[in-house]
Amino acid sequence: MTTVDRHRLGALLEREERRFVETHPRSRELFLRAGRSLLAGVPMHWMTEWAGAYPVFVAEAEGACFTDVDGHTYVDFCLGDTGAMAGHGPRAVVEAVAAQAAKGITLMLPTEDAIWAGEELARRFGLPCWQFALTATDANRFTLRLARAITGRPKVLVHAWCYHGSVDESLIVLGEDGFPRSRPHNVGPPIHPNVTTRVVEFNDLDALEHELAHGDVACVLVEPAMTNIGIVLPDPGYHEALREATRRHGTLLVIDETHTICAGPGGYTQAYALEPDFLTIGKTIGGGVPAAAYGFTEEVRDRILAAMPPQTDVGGIGGTLAGNALSLAATRACLGQVLTDEAFARMIALGKRFESGVAAAIVQHALPWSVTRLGCRVEYWPQPAMARNGAEAAASADHELDRYLHLSALNRGVLMTPFHNMALMCPATAEADVDRHTEVFREAVADLVA
Ligand code: PMP
Repeated sequence: MTTVDRHRLGALLEREERRFVETHPRSRELFLRAGRSLLAGVPMHWMTEWAGAYPVFVAEAEGACFTDVDGHTYVDFCLGDTGAMAGHGPRAVVEAVAAQAAKGITLMLPTEDAIWAGEELARRFGLPCWQFALTATDANRFTLRLARAITGRPKVLVHAWCYHGSVDESLIVLGEDGFPRSRPHNVGPPIHPNVTTRVVEFNDLDALEHELAHGDVACVLVEPAMTNIGIVLPDPGYHEALREATRRHGTLLVIDETHTICAGPGGYTQAYALEPDFLTIGKTIGGGVPAAAYGFTEEVRDRILAAMPPQTDVGGIGGTLAGNALSLAATRACLGQVLTDEAFARMIALGKRFESGVAAAIVQHALPWSVTRLGCRVEYWPQPAMARNGAEAAASADHELDRYLHLSALNRGVLMTPFHNMALMCPATAEADVDRHTEVFREAVADLVA
């Protein structure tokens, strides 16, 4: 819990909620109509979690901005929770998609773009062999299956409070008693996740060693820095020790770069010279068009080929639309022309500007809050220091405060990532966009401490 005056916070939140409803009548109308044909009035139920009585309905989006059906324009730092990290409608992707759509969308046959994408991912992440999927969830799911198949081991290990998509094995945390339990809000788990999964807190090397020593862990699946429960950075030496321990125990290491690609063009893996056996990535690579990938070493490739059954189409890996011509044309355009090395340099500089704007406002108002940056992704948190693991981060979340900060930003034309206070820069983000956020944030905290 933060040191903010709860009474004042409640009053400010009410003020922002009223303002939202007054200024978004058309979104309200659409939301009420949607309630008749869509579950909870939205096409995907997470969209009910936006601050405000209902989500804003979008009219159009371009670059780092979008306009809603009430005519308000927003600077978008959510960017589809990383799905639109290339910006909205980047020209190269739009043109490639239009051209490919006219030539065939999905064929269950390869196109040359697949080879280009495999070669480019190999250059960026240092892994030679690739497969494609449509979502990061699927890339992770397929990787876990392959890891179990080639090691003959039944379990995977994850960090408590991790997020790797709707992967059953990963929806697990450690209870206060130290025992694994299903993550709160896990909907209809097929079995208790401790049957499939071992779990340790991030940065806890002793626990990692203890769990790997059972000898039944096929792979460790990790985000190299946690980004889904605030940004939680690894302690110095954590990755070296994780790699050494996994090798010693015959456990494969899977790095999920879906969000940490924000660290640079080759993600955290390239930036910090990590040596995973598998790497997974989704969301960003198709410039917003569904596309994901998983790559692996030559050794893993040989083990996969040896373990593959003759008939793989019913083996639980792959998908009818995976590796389709449209996704791969989009991936080629996005990685080749939009999320380039030069674009990352600019985006990271903007991330630094965003971070220092927030830090200055925190100092100005003497708040015991902190701000962390990972490349072009920034997060602020109502605690004097960012957490060292998922449990600490989860315990220090302040949902009412988040709601106030999000809604006051939204009411002033700035969209933050829902669920926490995270912002992402895209190639089209401008310095003025970042400064607009700083201004809005400063105003929100000034009202809070007044
Ligand atoms: N991995 C990570 C690290 C993620 O953050 C997410 C989504 N937030 C996923 C996987 C799953 O992505 P998707 O929902 O697109 O499958």
